[in-house]
Amino acid sequence: MPTYSLNTAISYLKGVGPNRGDLLKSELGIHTFGDLVNFFPNRYLDRTQFFKINQLQQNSSEVQIVGKITRVKTVQQKRGSRLVATFVDDTGSMELVWFRGAKWIKDSLKVNVPYVIFGKTNYFKGMFSMPHPEMELVSVYKKSLRGAMQPIYPSTEKLVNKGISNKVISTIIQNLFEELKGNFKETLSSRIIEKLQLISKTQALLNIHFPTNQELLTKAQFRLKFEELFFIQLQLIRKKLVRKSKIKGFVFEKVGEKFNSFYSDKLPFDLTNAQKRVLKEIRKDVGSNAQMNRLLQGDVGSGKTIVGLLAMLLAIDNGFQAALMAPTEILATQHYNSIVEMLDGLEVSVKLLTGSTKAKERRILHAELESGELDILIGTHALIEDKVKFENLGIAIIDEQHRFGVEQRSKMWQKNTLPPHILVMTATPIPRTLAMSLYGDLDISVIDELPPGRKAIKTAHRFDSQRLSMFQFLKKEIDKGRQVYIVYPLINESEAMDYKDLMDGFESISRDFPKPNYQISIVHGKMKPADKEHEMQRFLKAETQIMVATTVIEVGVNIPNASVMVIESAERFGLSQLHQLRGRVGRGADQSYCILMTDYKLSADAKTRMETMVRTSDGFEIAEVDLKLRGPGNLMGTQQSGVLNLKIADIVKDSHLLKSARSFAINLLANDPTLSLDENLNIKIAYTEISKNSTIWQNIS
Ligand code: ADP
Ligand code: MG
Repeated sequence: MPTYSLNTAISYLKGVGPNRGDLLKSELGIHTFGDLVNFFPNRYLDRTQFFKINQLQQNSSEVQIVGKITRVKTVQQKRGSRLVATFVDDTGSMELVWFRGAKWIKDSLKVNVPYVIFGKTNYFKGMFSMPHPEMELVSVYKKSLRGAMQPIYPSTEKLVNKGISNKVISTIIQNLFEELKGNFKETLSSRIIEKLQLISKTQALLNIHFPTNQELLTKAQFRLKFEELFFIQLQLIRKKLVRKSKIKGFVFEKVGEKFNSFYSDKLPFDLTNAQKRVLKEIRKDVGSNAQMNRLLQGDVGSGKTIVGLLAMLLAIDNGFQAALMAPTEILATQHYNSIVEMLDGLEVSVKLLTGSTKAKERRILHAELESGELDILIGTHALIEDKVKFENLGIAIIDEQHRFGVEQRSKMWQKNTLPPHILVMTATPIPRTLAMSLYGDLDISVIDELPPGRKAIKTAHRFDSQRLSMFQFLKKEIDKGRQVYIVYPLINESEAMDYKDLMDGFESISRDFPKPNYQISIVHGKMKPADKEHEMQRFLKAETQIMVATTVIEVGVNIPNASVMVIESAERFGLSQLHQLRGRVGRGADQSYCILMTDYKLSADAKTRMETMVRTSDGFEIAEVDLKLRGPGNLMGTQQSGVLNLKIADIVKDSHLLKSARSFAINLLANDPTLSLDENLNIKIAYTEISKNSTIWQNIS
């Protein structure tokens, strides 16, 4: 007798063999017995109910009936033949029909023996029929591990075409459980099992594949979901602890003269309470001797820049340099200009480095950077080129993080002997549950309050037929001295169609807003950076009243006098993009407006997006809706994380479980950071196993 373990190759399993084994590998990623054990159904059919033939309804869904076949006949058709069996119970009779495989099936059917049949029924001329029923002899059905809830496994077309039906998978899994004798190592501690009243690992696996009733199925799902989330959180939190204990950081001991004089003399407003709180969190980090790795979330316009600037001044006061990296040249330039202006009169040297910085300027800049003469360097990706060397970079701030890959974040690290403190700022509100899974190893700060005096932006949804009245409205606003953005979708920068839309739009706007009364700017991705910058500057100086643009203006741009945002073909934008775009207005003292222009015909999702935008301007609420609509897979940053590879849990639907798993993981590590207590042995063994195969370590941060 061979012995089998979870590591045994799948092709050795009874009912599999080399051919099916290859298919399971290529189609479902199932290589071993263990992979199959953890291959979970994605839904279940309720087979607790049995129907009698006289209870069938014309529009009933899948039904299950016990009865006998009394007669089988082959009916010739134009093409091939059809097999029809008469099926009766004590209330009536119906037909079972096969259009394919008639010959083979005919031989296997037994007459006058009780069967359980299952499937959808059709009704035609007073007779019910069931095409291609799933059927099983009652004697076999009774012996089977399969219970009343029939599992339906994920599958692919290729598997089905190669005859690996759901039933085949179920049978293979039944063989698997027989071979393994149904014993699985417990992976959680008795403490957690008792606290949450979980069923055992063995029970859970048995009931996820062969649930005997809904209650046990629910318990099995709960246990396995919890476990999955728990081990992910355990990894993230351990990683954070290790970073904090191992990775030393620079200590910014004092709050010095530059910080203080800026704070008391230059700061043009009082910080909001949220800004103050975040600043405290940052100061605590940089004052400890561990490296800061913090994510700062704050809605558009919540005032993240000033927090970043204050953090940089802290570094400078302690003898370090600071860097601020932005995703676009426009944004980097704008940061540079506003920071230079704010620091006017302080002895802080600031320079800008982008793709268009001239070679000569670059050389000077490099030298000043290496000698430590330069305090703050602001720029684009150009900052992380190898040639750029700091004398002592103390803090790196990365604005609008979602635009940068993880790789770029870590590149900032390599610029020093010790890693600089890292502050990542993002205006894309990440729902809490997603943040826990994506950035569970980072510390998170949130600015959840807008500066005082902001008027809520009025948002309206209009159809293309209302364009003329929309133009009238724009004219009224422009007459009041306001400025207007009109944004076109440019989903794919190389898409000729999109450019045509943009140019057509530009022409029609130029007709309706003729010179010299109106001046119009246009900015899009195909323009040279210098030309873009020129147009942005004209708009910024209010030389033009209308900015026609693609989404290049999405991120960060700050023009307080612009008070109307028109978004063309708004249905083509995702919620987070719409929210970002809307955030370009509402930055000044005037009432601002956002107008979403769409076609009449909208998909259900698009309608929800428009309604959500009109209803709320709370970025976190919008992010939650977005997560629900699109699932985590399509949200920024999720591709590179483990949240997509969840086998059973769903971070949207199981968010409560996620929170609980996280707090269990936090408590566990607080008491037993190295998992060396006896009571946690199960967890340690499982954890080691999981970490070996997990990609989380490489993928996050
Ligand atoms: P974001 O968080 O989107 O990056 P910014 O940092 O660009 O926002 O700030 C938006 C605007 O709000 C800027 O004009 C900034 O000067 C202003 N601002 C920031 N904090 C405050 C505050 N506490 N009180 C008043 N205005 C503020
Ligand atoms: Mg910003």
